[in-house]
Amino acid sequence: MSTWTNWAGNVSADPTAVGHPATTDEVVAFVLAHPQVKAVGAGHSFTPIAAPEGALLHLDRMNLVLSADTTTGLVRVQAGISLHDLNRSLAALGLALPNLGDVDPQSVAGATSTGTHGTGARLFGIARAVAALQLVTADGAVLEIDGDHELFDAARVGLGALGIVTEVTLQCVPAFLLHAREEPMALSDVLTGLDDLVDGNDHFEFYFFPHTDKALTKRNNRVPEGTPPAPLPRWRHLLDDELLSNTVYERVQRIAARRPRLVPRINELSGSLLGAREYTDASHEVFISPRRVRFRESEFALPRAAAGEAIAEMRRWYDRSGEHVSFPVEVRFTAADDIWLSTGYERDNVYLAVHQFHRTDPTRYFAAMQDIFVAHGGRPHWGKMHTLGADHFRTVYPRFDDFVAVRDRLDPARKFTNAYLRQVLGG
Ligand SMILES: Cc1cc2nc3c(=O)[nH]c(=O)nc-3n(C[C@H](O)[C@H](O)[C@H](O)COP(=O)(O)OP(=O)(O)OC[C@H]3O[C@@H](n4cnc5c(N)ncnc54)[C@H](O)[C@@H]3O)c2cc1C
Repeated sequence: MSTWTNWAGNVSADPTAVGHPATTDEVVAFVLAHPQVKAVGAGHSFTPIAAPEGALLHLDRMNLVLSADTTTGLVRVQAGISLHDLNRSLAALGLALPNLGDVDPQSVAGATSTGTHGTGARLFGIARAVAALQLVTADGAVLEIDGDHELFDAARVGLGALGIVTEVTLQCVPAFLLHAREEPMALSDVLTGLDDLVDGNDHFEFYFFPHTDKALTKRNNRVPEGTPPAPLPRWRHLLDDELLSNTVYERVQRIAARRPRLVPRINELSGSLLGAREYTDASHEVFISPRRVRFRESEFALPRAAAGEAIAEMRRWYDRSGEHVSFPVEVRFTAADDIWLSTGYERDNVYLAVHQFHRTDPTRYFAAMQDIFVAHGGRPHWGKMHTLGADHFRTVYPRFDDFVAVRDRLDPARKFTNAYLRQVLGG
């Protein structure tokens, strides 16, 4: 049996069996045939949340759009479809997801199960667009869980702990264009005007470069109907997104990994090289960027009001720790939602995401950042690196024990568990 490895290359496992079902009935048969089952999507989690301890279930053949109602915007898909394929199918129907993260290889089930999100102070993570889902449970039952079902708020961000998601109904919106404005700014200016930037744009985010006062801001706003698209010219896309952000950046990161003392100067230079640019394109073209440089990531959601103080503490640590951090920090925002284990549960959030090149050990850096984030009530992204356990989650998720009770009921023999779920959910 071949070894399974995640995208970042930091998690691998040797499953006892691998299934590629094409239908819900085949999923049921696989679940009943194996004592331990783990569904994997695109392996884009940095945590071992998807690591199988027994049989592995790939839903890569369950990748169809099953039905679409362009009037209501409700679209039913098989849960293994990638966001990439989904975005293209939706565009052909004149529809779109209301918000997206940075990349699109993830499966719909994988992305929603960990609470994958983008940015937008009035918007939510992708799981908030789930209107219904079909779940195969440990006893082989097929549950249809919609907004009226008692499991709805547990199952939309289910961490893969409740069963296998086989179909998802998504509440989509009419396709829309975004005007993107990317602009370098001094970090101190970004922080001074943060509320206006966050509230004054549909999707605001910024990156800041450790050891410098440099930031790159991104403002994406819906344009009035009838505005023509004005995409980036292909040469500019190739120069910025492929050459500078990927090919050159990979080489720069290799140099930084070998000669860490150069990092502050490299970051000054990186922060200065990124120029301003504006363009208007289909929403998914604006949200998604290619990410070819391998890295490790940890990301926490904090109450939005803690943004300034937490970033100040991070900067003090960069100054005094002696650690040289070559990757920028990504800062995003979302509105409160109603999903029990969503990082956005009943809280407007700022997200602080720290990265480290895959050849550099991130342990010390991420541990220090985790301490800062936890002190502000941080909730880690379920798919991004952290070392926290059930004791912490019980304090930051008011419905944590209700989720655990649902898990006890649906999966008493722990068919869907693994080491990560034992760590974060207990038992
Ligand atoms: C380069 C990169 C960029 C990223 N950008 C963002 C971003 O912008 N925003 C963000 O929030 N996150 C981001 N992430 C994190 C990523 O979106 C999440 O980790 C997501 O869960 C990965 O989806 P996947 O399909 O790869 O799922 P996997 O990592 O394979 O699995 C994740 C979880 O979903 C479960 N699962 C998968 N399929 C099913 C199913 N059918 N039924 C039940 N459970 C299932 C797995 O068991 C596991 O628990 C990024 C990750 C990478 C590597």
